[in-house]
Amino acid sequence: MTTQDSPKPSVLIVGAGCWGLATAYTLASSGYTKVTVLEKDDVVPSRFSAGNDLNKVIRAEYADNFYTDLSVRAIRKWQTDPLYKPHFHQNGFLNVTSESAPQATKDVVTNYLTSIRGHPAFEGQVSTVHGAEEIKKVAPAFTGPTAGWSGYFNKLAGYAHSADASKAVYDACVKLGVNFVLGRDNGEVTELVYDTISSRRVCVGVKTRGNQIYHADKVILALGADVPGLIPQLGPQVTGRCWGVVHIQLTPEEARPLRGIPVTNVRDLAFFFEPDEATNKLKFCHMGGGFTNFALSQNGLSLPYEKLEDSQFIPLDDESYIRKLLQEVFPQFADRPLIDKHLCWFADTIDSDYIIDYVPDTNSSLIVLSGDSGHGFKMLPIFGEFVKEILERGSQNIAKWQWKDDTKQKSTGTWRGDTATQELSKIPRA
Ligand SMILES: Cc1cc2nc3c(=O)[nH]c(=O)nc-3n(C[C@H](O)[C@H](O)[C@H](O)COP(=O)(O)OP(=O)(O)OC[C@H]3O[C@@H](n4cnc5c(N)ncnc54)[C@H](O)[C@@H]3O)c2cc1C
Repeated sequence: MTTQDSPKPSVLIVGAGCWGLATAYTLASSGYTKVTVLEKDDVVPSRFSAGNDLNKVIRAEYADNFYTDLSVRAIRKWQTDPLYKPHFHQNGFLNVTSESAPQATKDVVTNYLTSIRGHPAFEGQVSTVHGAEEIKKVAPAFTGPTAGWSGYFNKLAGYAHSADASKAVYDACVKLGVNFVLGRDNGEVTELVYDTISSRRVCVGVKTRGNQIYHADKVILALGADVPGLIPQLGPQVTGRCWGVVHIQLTPEEARPLRGIPVTNVRDLAFFFEPDEATNKLKFCHMGGGFTNFALSQNGLSLPYEKLEDSQFIPLDDESYIRKLLQEVFPQFADRPLIDKHLCWFADTIDSDYIIDYVPDTNSSLIVLSGDSGHGFKMLPIFGEFVKEILERGSQNIAKWQWKDDTKQKSTGTWRGDTATQELSKIPRA
């Protein structure tokens, strides 16, 4: 009997966010017939998932070619696979800084450009853009001055409607027979269940808030920024962090001329997307250093607020960056109310590397998928393969994705080299 023919283990996946869904879909498509997903929200996409959003950038420029190559592979699937293609919009990615950006931020954009120059996938896809005239050639719908904007335009990029893509993967999982258990009582896991088998400590299942116990041969945790709450020993490697996200409401007439604009990241101000097709909302996010929440924690962890209502604000400074950006790009909307304010949480590692590995001292029974570091959604079409690989091999041999026991430093300082992290409890809110 080959490994392919041997009976597949039963699998419990905790968390139906981006990585949990991707994993369930790949396993269920590969002959795993006993896959159960537990999710604390009572809907999928979950309102707690970072991936439940109007849009996420799909781009492949990374300082590390390892992620560039993976992202190019993911983009090919976004472009061609009937499951993902309807949700992918290859509008291009305009990555720039404004005239008054700090030099360190300008350097970050230059480094991105350098990283993809010479990579065969980007041949003929990338051009530098300097000043208002060149910006207007790439995005004629921008009505503001955009004076001194400088950076590049990458055509091999765009965005995915991430809530719709997540829903599509969920529906596909249901069709393949994946069992979903949703809601606070039966779907929210509060404890891992261990047993000793042949003198070895093994995770044999999970317990939910309503005291339901689920057993499986393999348990996979895909809890986003919440994961250190369940396995605090991950704390030194992973910090829960968030960014503020807002929308402005456009009318259909206002949205029409903006159809097809590129995803635009003015790195020192904020990034935005074309208006959402269904709602005509424009989304903005100031991606600064991110915010931590150590204040509530009893054991030195930064974790998301438990209740959704508590995450429904943005830092006051973010609002001023977004207003400034609106003046620069769409002055006609500069005073429009910011709506749907919320914090979006991710699991950050010091080196931005994912953690896809077995938890030590569990005898290959418990896998953790964490450390998305704010760049995990683009991998939706291929992420499940990463997990299937280690599930079947019994270990992780990609060093950068391994559990790093020796991590002494917490990722609490500057974020990606140009902006500092702040603690939520110490900042004014909008
Ligand atoms: C503002 C922002 C912008 C981003 N932009 C991009 C981008 O442009 N491109 C990109 O590629 N990525 C982006 N990301 C990152 C991307 O969203 C994440 O990498 C991705 O969602 C990670 O998937 P995940 O499954 O690990 O976590 P999530 O998608 O957050 O899912 C975690 C799930 O676990 C569930 N859960 C938590 N605790 C429990 C429990 N105890 N029991 C049961 N269920 C539980 C939650 O309800 C949730 O459904 C962004 C993130 C943020 C915050």
